[in-house]
Parts: sequence; C-alpha cells; structure tokens
Amino acid sequence: MPYTHILVAIDLTAECHPVILRAQALANSSNAQLSLINVVEPMAMAFAGDVPMDLSMLQQQQFEQARERVDTFAKAYPELTPEHCHLIYGQPRQEIHRLAKEQDCDLIVVGSHGRHGLALLLGSTANDVLHGAPCDVLAVRLKQPA
Ligand code: AMP
Repeated sequence: MPYTHILVAIDLTAECHPVILRAQALANSSNAQLSLINVVEPMAMAFAGDVPMDLSMLQQQQFEQARERVDTFAKAYPELTPEHCHLIYGQPRQEIHRLAKEQDCDLIVVGSHGRHGLALLLGSTANDVLHGAPCDVLAVRLKQPA
C-alpha cells in the first residue's frame, strides 16, 4: 500500500534538507501529501524548570525565530504550503505523535545520527519518536560531523 500522508519532523538545522528530500521523494512516488512539523521545546522544560526568571519574552522570541526558519525551509519545497507546516510548542515525541494521529499520517520521517554508546544512552529524538509511534517511522541516516 502506498503512503497517503507523510509527516517530516525537522529540528531546523542544516541537516534538515536530506531528511525533507527523502520525505519529498517518497511523497512524490506514492502521490502522498507531505506535511512538516517542528516542535519548540519550552525553555523551562529544557532547563528542568530550575531557572528562577521569567522566560516568557525569550520564549516568544524563540517561537518567532522558529517560525521564520520554518518558512525559509518550506520555501525550498513547493508542496510545503503554510497549511502543511506545523510549528508547535511542547515535547517533540509527544507532539509529533499527536499531530501524526490528528492528521492521519501513515509515515513519520526523522533524521538519525546513528548514535551508539553513551550518546545512545542519552537518547535521541529519532529513537524517542519510534517508540509508541502511531504509524511507520523512517529514520534517515545523517552523516556524523567530522
Ligand atoms: P536528534 O536526535 O536531536 O539529533 O534529532 C534527530 C531528528 O529528530 C532530527 O533530524 C529531526 O528529524 C527530529 N527532531 C529533533 N528535534 C526536533 C524538534 N524539535 N522538532 C521536530 N523534529 C525534531
């Protein structure tokens, strides 16, 4: 069965392009809809809630910067129209799964650094997304930085 709706998750680094390109090629060959998600993690969560200051302004700026970067990435891919680009606050695994369910996606595409050893123990988003995913997950192997 060909895929009908592919969700590509991006972290807004330069490494997103090979991940989006793979998702785009799959979407084209299956005639599937392509959607994109980036999850902005709340700062308080990133610092384990231990920061004794008001982060709301910083967080607003972080969200606006992420919006600009998503728009820049999406411009390179004609099928990624604004209604198919999702910028969401929260925890990546949870929000990627939630959106995939909500949008009836049958494939999630993420990048993977193929970490091992200590780095693997510390966890990776690709690994996180795979566990409990509501549909298939494709991990696109990314090159390790030299
Ligand atoms: P990482 O494990 O952080 O190196 O990320 C591996 C992959 O997970 C990335 O290539 C993205 O596909 C996805 N990912 C990581 N962080 C996010 C995020 N904040 N929002 C959406 N996808 C993400």
